Amino acid sequence: MCAHILLVEDEAKLARFIELELGSEGYQVSVAYDGMSGLSLARESEPDLAILDWMLPGLTGVELCRQLRATGSKVPVILLTARDEVSDRVTGLDAGADDYVVKPFSIEELLARIRAHLRRTHEADEDLLQFEDLSLNRRTREVFRGQRVIELTAKEFDLLEYLMHSPRQVYTRDQILEKVWGYDFMGDSNIIEVYVRYLRLKLEKQGEKRLIHTVRGVGYALREH
Ligand code: CA
Repeated sequence: MCAHILLVEDEAKLARFIELELGSEGYQVSVAYDGMSGLSLARESEPDLAILDWMLPGLTGVELCRQLRATGSKVPVILLTARDEVSDRVTGLDAGADDYVVKPFSIEELLARIRAHLRRTHEADEDLLQFEDLSLNRRTREVFRGQRVIELTAKEFDLLEYLMHSPRQVYTRDQILEKVWGYDFMGDSNIIEVYVRYLRLKLEKQGEKRLIHTVRGVGYALREH
């Protein structure tokens, strides 16, 4: 799937050059030449990454970035800065930019930064499992129900992660035992009921609706009702 990149740069020649280079790398590119059109283009097209020149007519790249963040956008932002603006880069990072590249830059450097940021987004997506207001991060092993942090033991986490893998799918007790407890599990198979009960207690502690459902005679599924 080709990533969509927004470029906001008022130097037409430079904008054209970057656009062509990005295009030949297989990226889909949208270009704006001033801050305000850059902002509306960012909101309309929801790009995977934005490259913003710092000094732009109308709205600076930093201001544009700040406005995007203010509305909750998490798009990775790379700022293009002139050498004499470098001392001011903290302002850019404070505004929520992820990175900056100092002009004049080599196109290889810019491409490398772009790849790194897109890869990071991709990995973050793979780490995060979500269903309704429940979210689980595989890398940090954090679990949230809305804004509420849910503390789980290692096994509870593994069980929930397994169920969240494919919401609405019914997992049989054998599948769960094998995947969460392992082939060599010799204990009581009631262990699943026990852990599902623990999980429900924690996930529904504040009266939230049930998400882990028993499918009688078969097993368990994560679903709305
Ligand atoms: Ca400029």
